[in-house]
Amino acid sequence: MMQNNLIIYNSLTKKKELFKPLNEPFVGLYVCGPTVYSDAHLGHARPAVIFDLLYRYLTHLGYKVRYVRNITDVGHLENDADEGEDKIEKKARLEHIEPMEVVQKYLNTYYRNMEQLNTLHPSIEPRASGHIIEQQEFIKTLLEKGYAYEVNGSVYFDVAGYNEKYRYGKLSGRVLEELQNNTRVLEGQDEKRNPFDFALWKKASPEHLMNWPSKWSTGYPGWHLECSAMSIKYLGEEFDIHGGGMDLLFPHHECEIAQSTAALGKESVRYWIHNNMITINGQKMARSLGNFITLDQLFSGNHLVLEQPYSPMTIRFFILQAHYRSTVDFSKEALQAAEKGLQKLLKAIENLNKIKPCASSTVDIDILKKRCYEALDDDLNSPITLSHLFDGVRIVNSLIDGTAKIDESGLKALHELFDTFVFDILGLKDESAGAGDEKLTDDLMKIIIDLRQDAKDKKEWAASDKIRNELKNAGIVLKDMKDGVEWEKE
Ligand code: ZN
Repeated sequence: MMQNNLIIYNSLTKKKELFKPLNEPFVGLYVCGPTVYSDAHLGHARPAVIFDLLYRYLTHLGYKVRYVRNITDVGHLENDADEGEDKIEKKARLEHIEPMEVVQKYLNTYYRNMEQLNTLHPSIEPRASGHIIEQQEFIKTLLEKGYAYEVNGSVYFDVAGYNEKYRYGKLSGRVLEELQNNTRVLEGQDEKRNPFDFALWKKASPEHLMNWPSKWSTGYPGWHLECSAMSIKYLGEEFDIHGGGMDLLFPHHECEIAQSTAALGKESVRYWIHNNMITINGQKMARSLGNFITLDQLFSGNHLVLEQPYSPMTIRFFILQAHYRSTVDFSKEALQAAEKGLQKLLKAIENLNKIKPCASSTVDIDILKKRCYEALDDDLNSPITLSHLFDGVRIVNSLIDGTAKIDESGLKALHELFDTFVFDILGLKDESAGAGDEKLTDDLMKIIIDLRQDAKDKKEWAASDKIRNELKNAGIVLKDMKDGVEWEKE
């Protein structure tokens, strides 16, 4: 049994629960990924960073996590329901390119942005178009079990029939009667028995580009189906965590639950986790409001509402400063404060190298470490974790100005605290140009200077002179100082 105190809020039970994997030490994590028909934007950054944090933390705790994030490249129609054009096909038509070129183009941007945000790659990234057979098999099962019906070559999920045996609306809290009254009956939906039924397979119209043969018609799968089919394929009939943005909770995740439960006769997902949304100056982000910002625009500053660029780590830090279940509002003031906060944190970590250990300590690092774990264990509370790390920053500053003392083991623990929480778990990094190279050069020079000192101590003058001369040829000058040797470039 692994030691584990992680408590997470389960959107399905609406309770905080102790995390217990079904098959320790393995954890199955499925996150709904992007529909790739436009540049990655702020709305993509938050779930990517939040589920990266969860992935990093579970891995840190010792779990072997299989992180599956799908790519939607077919079947997601314009109005997020069953009507309108396929989002990818529409873009292909506008740009005069193939639908799969649209997918590749925006997927390349998405991957580049996700790397800039320092998110780790998932274990598997399955595409909907690569799992048509699995989706068709899923539909066959639903038809056999009586939870789906075919009309004119399209297949729909029978929500009312499902609701008689299982409860539809468990996740969103919506009840069928309410849906019945509130669902607008759109033209063309008369194929459905009920307006809230949703498509599993759609017969393609003659001008539709992405379609596949099936026993019902030449057509394409409904949007919700891919996630049921692919999560079960890669993580098993029952798996631990399913995540995504709050905007996917209804109808996407509600429909996923209905499909999987109807097909399997049992719940598939143990914990549902949803991150909240991002607003801009208090408004929802939307193309129609002119506040739609892509990640490239944010990183370059090239957008009317921006006065300056914000680095990917500033955005990551900003997202982590809020709890994932709270809304986050992007404003100039908030972003500039995040930029300053991140710089302060990284400066303190850099200053750690200037601290010399004493014989005794006046500071307690273990308590800080314990508090950082407690915060993350409390439903991934990253803002509280950061506030404890800023207590660490205050300790560094008082050690630098001499108002506090630390012994050797304390100093080692302080280094480990920042390495573990700032870099490994929160996934922040120092973006300053060549920061890694500079550190490597410093480390290598220290080794060379130590070797030369060894030679001098053994009175091996030829060796010590050779090191000094070769370095001089390479443009590096050694200077013997009172308390050691320093180096500089000529
Ligand atoms: Zn999904």
